[in-house]
Amino acid sequence: MIPARGRSAADVLAELRARQRDDVDWRRGRVFSLVYHASDEHEQLIKDAHALYASANLLNPMAFKGLRSLEKDIVDAAAALFNGPRAVGAVTSGGTESILCAVAAYRDRARRKKPWILWPELVVPRTIHPAFDKAAHYFGVKLVKVGVDRDQRADVRAMAKAIGWRTIGLVASAPQYPHGVIDPIAEIGELAVHHRVPFHVDACVGGFVLPWLERMGRSLPRWDFRVRGVTSISADLHKFAYAGKGASLLLWRSLDDFRDQIFVATDFPGGIYASPTLLGTRPGGPIAAAWAALHAMGEAGYLDATARAIDAADRLRAGIAQIPGLSLLGRPDATIVAYTGEHLFAVADRLEARGWSVDRQHRPTSVHLTVTANHAPIVDEYLADLRASVGEVRANPALAKSGSAPMYGMAAKLPLRRLVAKNVRKMIAELYSSSERPASGDGARVASEKNT
Ligand SMILES: *Cc1c(COP(=O)(O)O)cnc(C)c1O
Repeated sequence: MIPARGRSAADVLAELRARQRDDVDWRRGRVFSLVYHASDEHEQLIKDAHALYASANLLNPMAFKGLRSLEKDIVDAAAALFNGPRAVGAVTSGGTESILCAVAAYRDRARRKKPWILWPELVVPRTIHPAFDKAAHYFGVKLVKVGVDRDQRADVRAMAKAIGWRTIGLVASAPQYPHGVIDPIAEIGELAVHHRVPFHVDACVGGFVLPWLERMGRSLPRWDFRVRGVTSISADLHKFAYAGKGASLLLWRSLDDFRDQIFVATDFPGGIYASPTLLGTRPGGPIAAAWAALHAMGEAGYLDATARAIDAADRLRAGIAQIPGLSLLGRPDATIVAYTGEHLFAVADRLEARGWSVDRQHRPTSVHLTVTANHAPIVDEYLADLRASVGEVRANPALAKSGSAPMYGMAAKLPLRRLVAKNVRKMIAELYSSSERPASGDGARVASEKNT
């Protein structure tokens, strides 16, 4: 309810702070993949930068020339980092928006160049992020999914076989999210060149960590614009660039490739309306915060944060490999760790009971850890708790039949996926239902609403 009279600023802020107590506590490094935290000091800068531009709107870049210059700086910095001397692009509100824009642009590029394709298809590995499923669903594109090898990397031969006359592009990840493995980008790039189709590299999670790992001397497969055939790259600022939430990038090799991303409406009585991204009003706060992050961290800051994150990831990997019954998945390409093991979902329940927020995965059953600089101090504690959890489940195998383990185990099984989707949809609908609205107290107002 909007209060009849406005409350004081102090009162409003006090309640906002109080409500935060119901949110997951990510500061202590017990949560993975949702929040990327460099330091408390850095976080304060992000907030201050965001506040300075909180009312600015990049819907009109002519009116907000200052904000537009920040966006240009961010794109230029990323173009240099990803070795695309002529690369251009835009800041979006997140990885999903970058991916939606890329898929829409690939579809429109095909409409322009191959108008006979009525049922466009993108060839992707099955480990691709669900934002591509969403984009395909929204824009009438079919995802042709191919398998992966033992290391969870895209099967290039299967991709080659899946390319047909309806193919409007290829997609792969650097790295893919579930296991942190870089797909064979160079080989897929050759396929793209050979078949003359555009190729998108999803570096949402890797874009701002792989370049620093490479500079630290880790040997990594190439994945950026140095690879022949790569057309576009998505990279999230609000992940390993340690920006505030609501900032990502979609970059194109050249201005010519970027054109398909620009939307123009000419009939609107409100005037000519042009927009390069999904959003209309484009909030200035996240763009200013991302600019602040790049400039405050600097190369040295990113190298340091990456060193702390990769050291934590390496120590986690080494520790997990030594726990009997557990084994690592994928390869150590990035600062992501994934492991599998016996009665893993029961182990996950025991970890959760010890205060960890656990990312459960399926196909194959595994636990995921996106490791950031903020996780450096918790490695030993995590490993000790993991060892104890595995021991507990070993000593009491009945645990696998209680708690949430059977539910997750069932959800992972193939034939029930439709049922799972139905139940999840029901859960989300309940979360958003109006049933918890107060019926009394504000009764008069509710009643008058009903009468109209
Ligand atoms: C996080 C992520 C995305 C989606 O980004 P959002 O910012 O959550 O919308 C896409 N691809 C990969 C590989 C990711 O890790």
